[in-house]
Amino acid sequence: MSRPVLHWFRRDLRLTDNTALHHAAKSSAQVIPVYILSDWKQHHGWTGPNRQQFLCGNLESLAKNLEALGSRLIIRCGRADAELERLIRETQAEAVYFNRDYDPYGRAMEKRVQELCTRLDIECHSHQDSVLHEPDAVLTGSGLPYRVYTPYSKNWLNQPKTAPHGRPRTLGPAAPATVTSLPLPTLEHWQLPPCTAQIPAPGERAARERLKHFISSGILHRYGQERNLPAGQTTSMLSPDLRYGLLSIREIYQRCQEALVDESGKPQPAAAQASIQTYIKELAWREFYMAILWHYPHVFEQEFAPDWVGLPWPGTDSDFQRWATGTTGFPIVDAGMRQLLKTGLMHNRLRMITAMFLTKDLHCDWRLGEAFFMQQLVDGENASNNGGWQWSAGTGADAAPYFRIQNPWLQSARFDPDGLYIKQWVPELKDVPAALLHEPPKPGLPLAKGYPLPMVDHHAERDRCLAIFAKHKEER
Ligand code: FAD
Repeated sequence: MSRPVLHWFRRDLRLTDNTALHHAAKSSAQVIPVYILSDWKQHHGWTGPNRQQFLCGNLESLAKNLEALGSRLIIRCGRADAELERLIRETQAEAVYFNRDYDPYGRAMEKRVQELCTRLDIECHSHQDSVLHEPDAVLTGSGLPYRVYTPYSKNWLNQPKTAPHGRPRTLGPAAPATVTSLPLPTLEHWQLPPCTAQIPAPGERAARERLKHFISSGILHRYGQERNLPAGQTTSMLSPDLRYGLLSIREIYQRCQEALVDESGKPQPAAAQASIQTYIKELAWREFYMAILWHYPHVFEQEFAPDWVGLPWPGTDSDFQRWATGTTGFPIVDAGMRQLLKTGLMHNRLRMITAMFLTKDLHCDWRLGEAFFMQQLVDGENASNNGGWQWSAGTGADAAPYFRIQNPWLQSARFDPDGLYIKQWVPELKDVPAALLHEPPKPGLPLAKGYPLPMVDHHAERDRCLAIFAKHKEER
C-alpha cells in the first residue's frame, strides 16, 4: 500500500467542497486528518471564550463527521511545523495538504511548513480554498494592489468563479492507534473562562442549515432593501461559518447564482436579483480586506493611510469602559455593544456605529476597539475587523474622507425607527416611546430609571474630532 498523506485542517473545518482535502483524497488511499491547536499564550488578549467555544464545537463536529467516514481526527498542540514534522515521521506520510490562509501569521507558518517538506523531501500541496479570488489575482491594470474597494470589486466580480468539488466518499483507514491524539479541547486549553454568550450552533451541518434558511426564507431576496436594518434577521449570519470554513465560499456563491431563478426556472423579480448581486458584493468586501492585509500587513499596527500615522487618540480608559459595557447613554450604541456581549455577534450597521462612536465621539484609539471586538466576536477575522475599524476611524482603505462622521442619533432614527432593536438589547428602554430613543433627552432627565444620560454631546465631539485630524494634518 502507498504511504499516507496528511491533511492539515486550519480554517476549513468541513468535509464538503474542501479543496485540499478533495485533492488529498484523490491522491492517496489514506488521508490522515490533523488539527493543531495553538498555544494559549499565542492568542492572549486577541480572542475570548465566544470564538474559542465555537471552535471547540466545530472540532467536535468535524471529529464526528470524520469518524462517520471511518477516519480519525488527530489533534496536536504546538507550533504547526514542529507538530507536522513529528506526525510525518510517525506516519511515514509522503505529502502534506492544506488550504492557504492569507493573514500574516498564517502565511508565515505556511512558509515554515513548505520548508519542512523540502527538508524532509516530501510533497507539500497548498490550495486556494477560503476565497473566490486570491489577493494576487485581483490587481490593477498595472499589476498593483487596489487601495479602494469599488474598482477592486468590479475586477473581482468580472473574474470567472470556480465550481464546488463535493465531498470525499472516503479518506481510507483511520491512523493506527500508535498515532496519538489529544482529547477534543475545552476552553481550559486557552485558560479562558466559560462562554456565557448565546453563540451560534457549531459544525458543518448547522452552517448548512443557516445557508438554507437564508436563501429559502427569502432573506437573500430582500437583502438589498433590508440588510441595514438591525432588528430581526435581515442578513445571512454566515460570517462565523466563513471564519471557520464550515461552508465553502464557492458553494455560497453557487447557491446565490441558483437563487436568481425560482423553482420553476423563472427569473426572480428585478429587486430580488439586485439583492443577490448586493449580497455577492458583500462577499467581495471580505476578500478586499484580506487583500489589503496581504499587500499592506503594516495595517495591523499602523494606520493604512500614511496621512494619519501617529494621529493622537486622547480618549480615556473610563470612556472606553462605558463603551465596552454598553452604558454610554446613546441607546443605539448601547444596544449594539450589548448584542455583542450577549451573542458574540453584532449587526454590520451597528459595528460601524459603535466603532465610529468610540473613535470619533470618544476619541479612543481604534486599536483598542479592534482588540475588544477580537476578544468578543465569534466571527472575529483579522482582515475584516482591522478593515472595519480603520474604515470607521477614518484612517483606512476608503474613498470617503475622514470628516465623514456619522451622527448616532440620526443613524438610530434611520435604521431602527421603531426602536425594536434597541428595546431588544436594552430592556431598560422597553417602555420608552420610539421617537424619544433617537434624540438626546432633556438635560438631567434620563430616558428611563437606571439608564444613564448620554456621556457626551455628539456635536461638540464631532468638532473636537475634526480639530484633532486637522491639527495632525497641519503639523505633518
Ligand atoms: P452579511 O451582510 O450577510 O454579509 C455576507 C458576508 O459578507 C459576511 O458573512 C462577511 O463574510 C462578508 N461581509 C459583509 N460585510 C463585510 C464587511 N464590511 N467587511 C468584510 N466582510 C464583509 N466581519 C467579519 O467576518 N469578522 C470581523 O471580525 C468583522 N469585524 C468588523 C468590525 C467592524 C468595525 C466593522 C464595521 C465590520 C466588521 N466585519 C467583520 C464586517 C461585517 O460587519 C460582518 O461581516 C457582518 O456583520 C457579518 O454578518 P453577516 O454574515 O450576516 O453579513
